[in-house]
Amino acid sequence: MNIQDLIRPSIKGLRPYSSARDEFRSIQEAMIFLDANESPFANDINRYPDPQQMALKISLSKIKDIATENMLLGNGSDEVLDLIIRAFCEPKVDNVIILPPTYGMYQVLANVNNVNLIQVPLSNDFQPVTDQILKTANGNSKLLFLCSPNNPTANSLDRKLVEELIINFKGIVIIDEAYIDFSKGKSWLSRLNEFPNLIITQTLSKAYGMAGIRLGICYASVEIIAVLNKIKPPYNVNELTQQKALENLSDNTKYKLQLKEIISERDKLMTKLESVPLIQMVYSSDANFVLIKVDNAHKRYKQLLQEGIVVRNRTNVLGCENCIRITVGTSQENKKLINTLKKLV
Ligand SMILES: *Cc1c(COP(=O)(O)O)cnc(C)c1O
Repeated sequence: MNIQDLIRPSIKGLRPYSSARDEFRSIQEAMIFLDANESPFANDINRYPDPQQMALKISLSKIKDIATENMLLGNGSDEVLDLIIRAFCEPKVDNVIILPPTYGMYQVLANVNNVNLIQVPLSNDFQPVTDQILKTANGNSKLLFLCSPNNPTANSLDRKLVEELIINFKGIVIIDEAYIDFSKGKSWLSRLNEFPNLIITQTLSKAYGMAGIRLGICYASVEIIAVLNKIKPPYNVNELTQQKALENLSDNTKYKLQLKEIISERDKLMTKLESVPLIQMVYSSDANFVLIKVDNAHKRYKQLLQEGIVVRNRTNVLGCENCIRITVGTSQENKKLINTLKKLV
């Protein structure tokens, strides 16, 4: 497969904007910077941020064991996903394939970019139907979005099926690993080099507890990263985000403790949910949330709201009739949830 043939012609020929910080990267303190029309008065944020976020990439590179050349950082993974669509999909001509029920942003981003959408539902046990996907794909199918662990179903996609798709799909396969830290399964990162058409996205929004700073990570071949770099806004990750991410990533003690606690709370919560009469099904979870099927999702959602508990009603999502998605909270929050659920009639 030739990645160059998948890129939109207008993007292939694009000459990117070259920012002042792109042209002059040195960060020597003694330099006098009169190149970017910034304020000269130092206050920690008077300078434009590093457009390539090198310090942060080096830190992530050590944690994830991946070269900085294989990374692109974005204003949340949502920005990264949008960049991918804009790089490869010609509006009204190309299409992307998604496997509902899955993360709603794939469809929204395709719609925003006026890119056609092909939906091939997951099977009853929420796994990809590979022959159907490959049969439905056509010459304009540029991207295939896989979410593993999947939102809102919480399960991981079968590795054999995913591999079959990466090998046989004639476009780019994106594996969204927003919840990978909570999973028993391994990340696909260690196999990135085997597949030139593979993109993996991760985020600091979930297990790393930094949803507020907006930092998404894209891992791919040097060739794909180069295309995305061409179209990303020059200063897409702001200085405060870079600083805060670096600071929090420098010590992983808290991350490890909290991750362990969330996983153990999730398993406790699932056991307790099983014994609540109005819950008909507790789906297995590889994430920091649990999908349950209840007798009447609208009714139970409203009742929980009245008790001051906000969950996510997923009943209108294909394949999730009467389902509610519950994020794992603190031990106290989870107890309150269970007690409230048990009292509902
Ligand atoms: C939460 C979530 C993300 C994270 O998006 P950010 O923009 O990085 O906060 C990505 N993908 C899925 C499936 C998610 O549920």
